[in-house]
Amino acid sequence: MKRDYYEVLGVSRTSTKDEIKKAYRKLALQYHPDKNPDNKDAEEHFKEVNEAYEVLSNDDKRRRYDQLGHAGVGSSAASSGGGHYGGGPGGAADFSDIFSAFNDMFGGGRGRSGGAPFGFEEVFGGSGGGGRRGRASAGIPGTDLKIRLKLTLEEIAKGVEKTLKIKKQVACKECNGTGSKSGATDNCQTCHGTGEVRQASKTMFGQFVNITACPTCGGEGRVIKDRCTSCYGEGIKQGEVTVKVTVPAGVQDGNYLTLRGQGNAGPRGGAPGDLIVVIEEKPHDLFIREGDDVIYNLAISFPDLVLGTKIEVPTLDGSVKLTIPPSTQPETRLRIAGHGIGHLRGSSRGDQYVKVNVFVPKDLSHQDKEMLKEMKKSSTISPAGHHDNNSKSFFEKARDIFS
Ligand SMILES: [Zn+2]
Ligand SMILES: [Zn+2]
Repeated sequence: MKRDYYEVLGVSRTSTKDEIKKAYRKLALQYHPDKNPDNKDAEEHFKEVNEAYEVLSNDDKRRRYDQLGHAGVGSSAASSGGGHYGGGPGGAADFSDIFSAFNDMFGGGRGRSGGAPFGFEEVFGGSGGGGRRGRASAGIPGTDLKIRLKLTLEEIAKGVEKTLKIKKQVACKECNGTGSKSGATDNCQTCHGTGEVRQASKTMFGQFVNITACPTCGGEGRVIKDRCTSCYGEGIKQGEVTVKVTVPAGVQDGNYLTLRGQGNAGPRGGAPGDLIVVIEEKPHDLFIREGDDVIYNLAISFPDLVLGTKIEVPTLDGSVKLTIPPSTQPETRLRIAGHGIGHLRGSSRGDQYVKVNVFVPKDLSHQDKEMLKEMKKSSTISPAGHHDNNSKSFFEKARDIFS
């Protein structure tokens, strides 16, 4: 009896494509024949995992499998017809999977967002990207790389250019990214140069033919002849690059910028993946962001609230003088125009609001206390009904009347 594919990958039936991919990569890495030489059990697991992934990663097949089970995808013979995995040591497709898995661990491997123009282009939005590109004509496409970029509110307010050092897969210099010392290639023995593997399977619903990319050559149809010793024939190596990122004003936590072609280099000349820069907003010590406005909480003395004053308050652009008008009520928001966050679309900026509150001291001198007691005798210092300390308050009187 075949195991349920979701069970094989250890994911739920409602899991997303990304979750399935992550689970697959983890398991493929774990059971990879290169890591488990002469281990029949691991080999079986590896086949099972690949088979499950082949179905669940494909929308069509997954739908059929969800409706009809194993019969729906004609997979009953697929496992016995397999056997291409882990052909030679470091078989091409398997290696790329491992690299992808490593990238995932370091935060790479996000779905590409389709349709964005080449170069620095912002694709704003909280959700992940769209569909994957088709296979490049040469090599295996590089994986996307995801990094987090922490920004201060000051940087977000006006936009910022950042120079980042990024560790990623780069083309091997020794072999120019081809993976071969001489550049010579041979026809792939597994697929005989077609780049495809066909697996026919008979089921109670009829015959199904599964066509998949050849696991040995990754669909290229060619395998390299004399392996480059520097990159072990992969054409890529771990390297470090400097990337300039221009972040426009007004970005928010979770927004991301997609830098086309700046992700991991593809094995053996494959198109590079994208670099996805996810914005993280550092909390600010003084300001609270509200959309494109910022709030600053200010506590001033009771006399200042009543009499009015001028006071220096910090803004994202240095301090400015703010006029507190006489008889300002607590919780009043005073606006300092144009000192908020720059609007993502457009050149103007939001505002800063200063929320004014009364400062209530905790430690008072005897003299201060006497002064405050004196102040209480005034007929205008308390709300109506509370001015006489010795008589009943307005609420007490009301209670007496209605009880
Ligand atoms: Zn092949
Ligand atoms: Zn090389």
